[in-house]
Amino acid sequence: MKFSDIYNNKKGKHIISYEVFPPKNDMDFNSLYRTIEDLKDINPDYVSVTYGAGGSNRNRTLEIASTIKNKIGIEVVAHLTCVNATVHDTDLMLECFKKENIENVLALRGDPPQGQENFTQTIGGFAYASELIAHISKNGNFGIAAAGYPEKHPEAASLEADVENLKRKIDNGATNVITQLFFNNDSFYRYRDLCGKKNINVKIEPGIMPILNFKSIQRMVHLCGAKIPAKLLGDLEKNQENISAIKKIGIDYAIEQIANLLDNQVDGIHFYAMNKSEDIKSIYNAVKSKIIR
Ligand code: FAD
Repeated sequence: MKFSDIYNNKKGKHIISYEVFPPKNDMDFNSLYRTIEDLKDINPDYVSVTYGAGGSNRNRTLEIASTIKNKIGIEVVAHLTCVNATVHDTDLMLECFKKENIENVLALRGDPPQGQENFTQTIGGFAYASELIAHISKNGNFGIAAAGYPEKHPEAASLEADVENLKRKIDNGATNVITQLFFNNDSFYRYRDLCGKKNINVKIEPGIMPILNFKSIQRMVHLCGAKIPAKLLGDLEKNQENISAIKKIGIDYAIEQIANLLDNQVDGIHFYAMNKSEDIKSIYNAVKSKIIR
């Protein structure tokens, strides 16, 4: 089912989705599939699968997305990037998606591969996600989502310029937005208002990553530019040696953050599940009474 149908079927209701990534180790595939089976309890509208910088990782995205759709029976979104890909490479991957009955793509420019500081356009490839989106849209076979950045993409000159870029992505054929993780809901509300002012009238799903490990979240926010509010950061720093205390702080914060988002008419919640089910389930259950399904 394409995004447009997923959203049409859920008018006035929340969309609940989550992201997984292809494991590096073959052994971890079964554990990932167990996670996805376990997360059936939250009845996701779709699961999205990230796309790496190259090589076998990309075929793993295809394999996992296909398994989720065709064997586990949940609607799926395959991420696709412009990194190290010509237009021809992109068309080949889209052909594979189509063969596997994958109907939705999150179209991204992509992060530079490890060891490279900046994104470089591949000769014969795309420079920006907006170009990839225009290309996929011409193909006509896929529902297309775009990435949004409530706290601005790190390379964008300003939030306004970044929202102009989002508008380009929507005008080129994206039908909905999934956001980068953030911890300050006010930045999301400001972003949503700005999108409204720029005539971006599509569903915007806020992306939520529960903090479960201090070191990994520090790495993550360094990469994506998300800001941790001072009070939360202080609490995390005070407890950084205590793994279970960090997890409790992170889960309590995610519950409070999501509850506030749901009270403020968000279109849905997109969980960065990090291939784990238990904490996502307990967060979901804590806010369940506010979710309209
Ligand atoms: P773009 O929309 O192309 O924007 C990139 C930068 O260029 C922005 O600063 C933008 O403002 C600027 N820009 C765009 N167009 C123009 C223009 N015409 N002129 C001047 N400036 C312009 N990365 C992966 O590698 N794999 C994944 O699976 C993945 N999944 C993600 C999922 C989500 C929900 C999100 C939010 C991000 C994900 N990323 C992933 C990270 C993403 O690839 C990076 O943030 C990347 O740096 C930007 O991708 P984009 O699609 O937003 O790029």
